[in-house]
Amino acid sequence: MPMNIAIDGPVGAGKSSIADAVAGKLGILHLDTGAMYRALALYALRSGVELTDEAAVSACCAQADIAVGYADGRQRTLLSGEDVSDLIRTGEVSAAASVVSKWPAVRERMVALQQELARKGNMLIDGRDIGTVVLADSPCKIYLTASAEERARRRYLQNLEKGDNTPFEDVLAALNARDAQDMGRAVSPLRQAEDAVLVDSTDMTREEVVDAIVRIVEGIYGKQ
Ligand code: C5P
Repeated sequence: MPMNIAIDGPVGAGKSSIADAVAGKLGILHLDTGAMYRALALYALRSGVELTDEAAVSACCAQADIAVGYADGRQRTLLSGEDVSDLIRTGEVSAAASVVSKWPAVRERMVALQQELARKGNMLIDGRDIGTVVLADSPCKIYLTASAEERARRRYLQNLEKGDNTPFEDVLAALNARDAQDMGRAVSPLRQAEDAVLVDSTDMTREEVVDAIVRIVEGIYGKQ
């Protein structure tokens, strides 16, 4: 059985960067599933469809050619063969991803793609429904979170580094709105799986979080 690790959590909990570091330490690939929903959101935005129109977004999803590849161990997200890994990191795409991801047809297709990738080998997968749906049978599930203020503070500082001066209050409001969408949707809402281990990183450094998760994984799969 491949070693599959599920990490879920809300916006700005540091899942992607922590997951990258943990996967690196374990010598396995990291699949960032948010990037796939983001690629679909970009496709829908480019197609000009109304994101709240379930039928239109579902049709878009059936047409979209979304693939994930790896270059030097790092994920590249492809839309119709175009590497959109950087283009999908805008605020507009973040908000759009949160809307398109609530439609059942979208979730069904993305989950199938993610499970296909997971079957190929050892993989650490992060997202919102990994422990509850995508890797529901995995023995290794982590729910990574932090207080909304702390997550917004980290996002605010990251933005400043990128030259984005969005005020803290606006960052916090966007984060709360996305949390509400992700936790409140009817299909696969974000929640901690019953058998997931909770890691609250509010008062932890990045290194402490990475070490804690590696220890949890080793406790389940043995020392790697
Ligand atoms: O993780 P990230 O913030 O990049 O995800 C973007 C959006 O995609 C999330 O706000 C969420 O709505 C959606 N998503 C999801 N299920 C996943 C991963 C992401 O619904 N497994």
